[in-house]
Amino acid sequence: MNNIRRYVCIALSALALMTSCGSASDDEGRLSVSSRTAADNSVIEAPADTSALPASAESLTETETTTETTTTTTTTTTTTASTTTETEPVPELPASDDVYLTLVNKTHMLPGDFFNVLSLTTMQNYEGNTFWVEEETLAHFQELKEDMAAVGLDCEIISAYRSIASQQEIWDEYEALYGLWYCNAYVAVPGYSEHHTGLAIDARLIRNGTVLYYMADGQTNGLEDFAAFHSRLAEHGFILRYPQGKDGITGYSYEPWHIRYVGVENAKKISASGLTLEEYLGEAEQ
Ligand SMILES: [Zn+2]
Repeated sequence: MNNIRRYVCIALSALALMTSCGSASDDEGRLSVSSRTAADNSVIEAPADTSALPASAESLTETETTTETTTTTTTTTTTTASTTTETEPVPELPASDDVYLTLVNKTHMLPGDFFNVLSLTTMQNYEGNTFWVEEETLAHFQELKEDMAAVGLDCEIISAYRSIASQQEIWDEYEALYGLWYCNAYVAVPGYSEHHTGLAIDARLIRNGTVLYYMADGQTNGLEDFAAFHSRLAEHGFILRYPQGKDGITGYSYEPWHIRYVGVENAKKISASGLTLEEYLGEAEQ
């Protein structure tokens, strides 16, 4: 119950503050409300040991262990009737495709062998919170961060890799709090969050100590700074994954903070095309 009570408090504060990644229409995990810290309500703590990492397709079907700030919990990811993961066949990576273009969305599950190809590494943000990020993604994020610093913006990770087990925890907590309808509307089904790839980063922009926010109704204190941030993404290999007005294609409302690493050349092509990743890959739902 303590956890649930804490989530309610954090949920209320997130809804009130609507800081970056705290929007009510937040992507795929309601990550803002799954925080384990009061100061940053969007942090998912990274697993402390590699046993929690998705080394294979088994991560979708076997019990995983994740470590939170102070406690270790074990979550079975297979038996929740409210999700579809137990009945979906786990896809594999097409050998010929660029792994950095892997599509994970509400209809495309994380390939089971994804982390046979890519590796995660850790980093800490300005608050000392540790995150797991795919290695090449992190290297390019550091370059992006330096680029933004040159125009007076601090760019910080507030969420990155999220295990399927932690996504299941989020789902279970929210189903208990608000019901299945809420999860269906706002929470990504475990296995179908882009954050499972380690290629997605939720970034917080800070100017002169002020966190820039964007609210669900469009209210923001950083319109120009978000625009500057978005304009620098492609040259560092990132795309803005959930652009404005594309929620019918991506499945998610506008998220100015959620960026996705696809590689520099891919990012430049996608950015120039004006297409979403789904459209670029020819995978947009009709
Ligand atoms: Zn995100």
